[in-house]
Amino acid sequence: MAWDFETDADFQQHLDWVDRFVREEVEPLEHVLVSPYAVQDPLRNRLIRPLQAQVKARGLWACHLGPALGGPGYGQVKLGLLNEILGRSAYAPTVFGCQAPDTGNAEILAHYGTPGQKRRWLEPLLANEIVSSFAMTEPHGGADPTLIRTTARREGGEWVLDGQKWFASSSNYAAFFITVAVTDPDARPHRRLSAFIVPADAPGLRHVRDVHLAGRKPQGHAHGYLAFEALRVPVDHMLGGQGDAFLVAQTRLGGGRIHHAMRTIGEARKALDMMCERAVSRPSRRGTLADKQLVQAMVADSWIQLEQFRLLVLRTAWLIDKHDDYKKVRKDISAVKAAMPKVLHDIVSRAIQVHGSLGVSNEMPFFDQLLASYVMGLADGPTEVHQITLAKELLAQVRPGDEMFPSQHLPTLARKAQERFREAL
Ligand SMILES: Cc1cc2nc3c(=O)[nH]c(=O)nc-3n(C[C@H](O)[C@H](O)[C@H](O)COP(=O)(O)OP(=O)(O)OC[C@H]3O[C@@H](n4cnc5c(N)ncnc54)[C@H](O)[C@@H]3O)c2cc1C
Repeated sequence: MAWDFETDADFQQHLDWVDRFVREEVEPLEHVLVSPYAVQDPLRNRLIRPLQAQVKARGLWACHLGPALGGPGYGQVKLGLLNEILGRSAYAPTVFGCQAPDTGNAEILAHYGTPGQKRRWLEPLLANEIVSSFAMTEPHGGADPTLIRTTARREGGEWVLDGQKWFASSSNYAAFFITVAVTDPDARPHRRLSAFIVPADAPGLRHVRDVHLAGRKPQGHAHGYLAFEALRVPVDHMLGGQGDAFLVAQTRLGGGRIHHAMRTIGEARKALDMMCERAVSRPSRRGTLADKQLVQAMVADSWIQLEQFRLLVLRTAWLIDKHDDYKKVRKDISAVKAAMPKVLHDIVSRAIQVHGSLGVSNEMPFFDQLLASYVMGLADGPTEVHQITLAKELLAQVRPGDEMFPSQHLPTLARKAQERFREAL
């Protein structure tokens, strides 16, 4: 299928509605609520539930899901066009039923959950009646999951977990955690770990402390430091088979990374819009900031960077739809993931500069966006790990040549050409 960056008229109508709805109804929420994840907060529910009902009525709830799980199954390209609008607001994913980490955890449960696990955890999660957390990273290391130290040992009808987890997002609101622990220490590295569901009230689960992002008030959405102290879960709380944790964790990452990238387009575009508004509004000698060529360069560079990134994201989304398999598009997803932090960082930095002192004040949202750009370089795998994945795959496709002169060595090519055309010369 060839595609031309335009979508069909019906879906465009949805997008137009979403654009207006997010600007008018959803963006104001961040000024009155503490967190989109605070399902225990009555005010949050009073304001968010009616908006979620409108989204459901338009058939736009949980658009990342296929029909089997109650979603429309639009595919990644349409999802990309939708998500780049949702990226304008931290509350929009929750209003549209596609907020991380619940999306990834739901994908895991849909794929590996038993009927009982689906009934108890997946159904309320998809309805946003509860929220969840994914607890894999540990305090002594995150980028390399083969270093995980938390253990799980079988005792009768239970698994007993001991260890520590770090930066488990939404830990203070979660009804359950999906976690991983070593069950087979002597197995090869990728078969040592198993995945478990840990209910928030499991005996032996201790919240050491709620960690918050730098500059944020110590309230709202926390990234928990957790201790598992002889934590007990029944044997039927394992997800997948013993030793399957790597497969289980992979299920959530492909979609998560690309959906994050789609929303980053919206976030960066918001910063660019603000930069442009400031430039045309702020008087300067003989005109406005928009008349200064160095300011124009900042606007132009930002637009180019954003559009290049958007094309990379949409092309990757198209490839995922085409292959229907994230693994076949690993290189492209890694490229998107590695590019994402810099795009947001650069555009937000320019927006700050054009806003002058107002830009660095707490009266504009830029600091949060800048912090988000650093978070994007860490969460779901650091940038360097994705650069390595991309480079390895590219290099694996190339055959070594002569050790002294590359295949495009001009004198060698000239000699070969002269030999080939000897008769004509
Ligand atoms: C906002 C936020 C939310 C998060 N949410 C969750 C969550 O919900 N659940 C969860 O389990 N985790 C979560 N994390 C943790 C995240 O997955 C880890 O931060 C990430 O995997 C990196 O691990 P680390 O922080 O321990 O860094 P380390 O592993 O200590 O790495 C530090 C740095 O070393 C470099 N590095 C590491 N490995 C390599 C390599 N192979 N090659 C080259 N350089 C390398 C990179 O520059 C990297 O940034 C979250 C993190 C953030 C910031």
